[in-house]
Amino acid sequence: MTETSHVQAQCISVLGSTGSVGTSTLDVISRYPQLSVYALSAGSNAELLFEQCLRFKPRVAVILEEQHADLLRKQLKQAGSDTAVRCGSQALCDIASSPDVDTVMAAIVGAAGLPPALAAVSSGKKVLLANKEALVTAGALFMKAADDSGAVVLPIDSEHNAIFQCLPLSAQQRRGRLAEQGVRRVVLTASGGPFLKTPLSELEWVTPAQACKHPNWSMGRKISVDSATMMNKGLEFIEACVLFDLSPSQVDVLIHPQSIVHSMVEYRDGSVLAQLGSPDMRVPIAHALAWPERMDSGASFLDLVKSPDLQFMAPDLERFPALALGIEAASQGGYSPCILNAANEIAVAAFLDGQIRFTEITGVISGTLAQITCRQPLSIAMIQAVDGQARVIASELVAARSRLKTA
Ligand code: NAD
Ligand code: MG
Repeated sequence: MTETSHVQAQCISVLGSTGSVGTSTLDVISRYPQLSVYALSAGSNAELLFEQCLRFKPRVAVILEEQHADLLRKQLKQAGSDTAVRCGSQALCDIASSPDVDTVMAAIVGAAGLPPALAAVSSGKKVLLANKEALVTAGALFMKAADDSGAVVLPIDSEHNAIFQCLPLSAQQRRGRLAEQGVRRVVLTASGGPFLKTPLSELEWVTPAQACKHPNWSMGRKISVDSATMMNKGLEFIEACVLFDLSPSQVDVLIHPQSIVHSMVEYRDGSVLAQLGSPDMRVPIAHALAWPERMDSGASFLDLVKSPDLQFMAPDLERFPALALGIEAASQGGYSPCILNAANEIAVAAFLDGQIRFTEITGVISGTLAQITCRQPLSIAMIQAVDGQARVIASELVAARSRLKTA
């Protein structure tokens, strides 16, 4: 029987509850009666949101478009549910910052998740951050908002959660100053995705279905393509610098195809601490929900005797130019990560939609980066403006490539 008493009672808003991380979060929540759901949110999957509302009985459900909200309202009323349905961006910020909420799971995909994630950190919540694009886009401003309000940001990305777990409690509670704690560098591991060994000449012809078939993890489509290009590790490189206040020279990337060692922290005395576990997002989700305690996650336990050999190798930047772009953007700082992220979102959507080839994704991103220079001090308004500008330029670059194919 599950021992539930040591987990603190929490009222939780799950942003992006119909996605891969969102559904894993609800699975963990369902194991503990003292974890209650204040709000759920979805982009357009009204059907699954309806089922989740009946099961978790949130006070509020938020969906992006009014037409979906109307339908959901009618269905819930018919089913005798008293969940209120709202729509739009302000409603998302409201469920992220409501005084009735203790904990927010930020699991919307893309920069669309930034406003509610920012609302959650600005109002001092315990924020479980899966939405790496929010951090990549707004970086230092996001963490400053958390420092100012006293919000606790707990990383859900498995690599960052692993690093967090390998830090002393004092560093977990107070961000930064890792060098004073004896940390020399952190090592992000990467599976290498589905195309680690595909001949380079074949990459041009890979399909969205092949790119989304990750060897170890089951994830949403956008992050699956990011894993195939390794832009995911580029975004995570930036995420690590921001979350742990590290310079790019203190972050390394190693390919580890088995996805069992989720990342490592190297200390000045030569000790390396690593976190290992099954590749199941319920592990970092349960870690963050219970932190600083521990709880059951539902994930299977690791059997290292049955696990294949653990391998590690340096990434090949010719195969994975997107990783090089991510590392470069981290070094440049300023608005570069925001431009990189916005262009990547457009390029990945265009690849999934059949408009450009897999190997054209990085060209769209580097072309966009080359066309925008912004030396203004960082501000949320400017981030949103630059993000919009990057999306326009990236879309033009996509259109030019599609025209070439149909000409
Ligand atoms: P997903 O596509 O499966 O789910 C995304 C969720 O966001 C869905 O609920 C969707 O309805 C909602 N959504 C999409 N667009 C929206 C919009 N414009 N406005 C409001 N809601 C919107 O994605 P996922 O794989 O669960 O990933 C979510 C986030 O977590 C991403 O930032 C990803 O990088 C990060 N992450 C995911 C994993 C994983 O294993 N899936 C691991 C690490 C980090
Ligand atoms: Mg990750």
